[in-house]
Amino acid sequence: MQKAKRIDVHMHIVLHPELVPDCKWGGRMLTAEEHMEYWDKIDIDYGVLLPIVAPEGQLHPMPCEDAKIVADKYPDKFAWFCNIDPRFMNNAETSDFKVMLQHYKNLGAKGVGELTSNMHVDDPRVQKLFAACAELDMPVTIHIGFKEGGCYGIIDDLHLPKIEKLLQDYPNLKLIGHSQPFWMEMGTDVTEENRNNHCPTTKVEEGRIAELMRKYPNLYGDLSAGSGSNALMRDEEYAIKFIEEFSDRLMYGCDICAKTNDLHYKFDAWLNRMVDEGKISIENYNKIVRENAIRILKLDI
Ligand SMILES: [Zn+2]
Repeated sequence: MQKAKRIDVHMHIVLHPELVPDCKWGGRMLTAEEHMEYWDKIDIDYGVLLPIVAPEGQLHPMPCEDAKIVADKYPDKFAWFCNIDPRFMNNAETSDFKVMLQHYKNLGAKGVGELTSNMHVDDPRVQKLFAACAELDMPVTIHIGFKEGGCYGIIDDLHLPKIEKLLQDYPNLKLIGHSQPFWMEMGTDVTEENRNNHCPTTKVEEGRIAELMRKYPNLYGDLSAGSGSNALMRDEEYAIKFIEEFSDRLMYGCDICAKTNDLHYKFDAWLNRMVDEGKISIENYNKIVRENAIRILKLDI
């Protein structure tokens, strides 16, 4: 069996690089063309564009429309998500996001996210958005934040009780977990103090992620960024077991936000070595880097 080309399920782009300010990460986000320049080096041939529309954690938005424009320009290279901030429309609990979601779905959006709004998971406005996503079968990539203010992402407490309730309440909602406070729950050594740490080096004593994924088939894992890739790389022995058990629900991604980002090269080397050493089967590798994304996100490739 051949190793499949990879799909990056977590991409942000900028359409007009000459017009945007530098981000806090050092430099600005990359254009689609700049992303494609490193694809060959790490075996990617397709990407999913995730708009960012909430004001937190960024200096400029990436509108849904930009994502569609790029995907239309390179139809064999990109799919796109739409994104909605739960404060859109009237910043009201009565806002109905189904009309907007249906609009973007009709235009070809494959999901919703990255949801970065710094609002509590159980906020009625947030719940309203999730209900609409469940109803319209739009998978959602979530960035979980650990507090209100001083970070971005939907807020849950330590050990993710509100995310669990969400998974229970909306069994049809496909939730794609991402960010430090999500992946730090891989182990039991997560605390209020360290839950925003993206590169722990401690061995994993099985924590909430495996428990939640076992209990809720509608929870998926986004392996992008330091948070996702390091959740595997921090403990090779545990990663082997984790990948074996959840091989149908993990998706490869990079989340490159500036030219200075380089963690994807480390993850690339790790993945290749794990396959070469027979620690990850090619079958599971192909699921993680490509096939799951096509199935879960219903990509037209
Ligand atoms: Zn991101």
